[in-house]
Amino acid sequence: MSYTLPVFLAHALALEQEAADRYLELADMMEAHRNDAVSSVFRDMTRFSELHRDEIKSRVGIVELPKLRSWEFRWRSPPEMGGEEGFDYLMQAYHALQYARDNEVRAMTYYRSVAEEATDDEVRRLAAAFADEETEHVAALDKWIETTQRP
Ligand code: ZN
Repeated sequence: MSYTLPVFLAHALALEQEAADRYLELADMMEAHRNDAVSSVFRDMTRFSELHRDEIKSRVGIVELPKLRSWEFRWRSPPEMGGEEGFDYLMQAYHALQYARDNEVRAMTYYRSVAEEATDDEVRRLAAAFADEETEHVAALDKWIETTQRP
């Protein structure tokens, strides 16, 4: 799919807002579970997502953004989470980190594919830069996953 700049920016904004919301939830969950180390990782990720969202907002300027359907950018839960056990499942730091990682990979893959298919130079440039940022997020989470005990 080849986006115009406003459509791409609308997607990117929605993705970053979703990431910020989900990370905040995860941070609160880890805090409730007395896992301050992983909670602070998620708080950092919340901040990065908010910063990124605000950067995108400032690029958007006066451009009017199209409205998007929410399912296009929502984070996906792992199938193991199931229904009501979902909350307990994510209380485990290992699973919470893995959940975040899967969704960072999705964002990275999304930006990468936009960059590859873009016909607009600015969309291509921004999408490639955003993909690189997501790659860093995946790497940061990988480091934590490595040192977190698998339940
Ligand atoms: Zn990210």
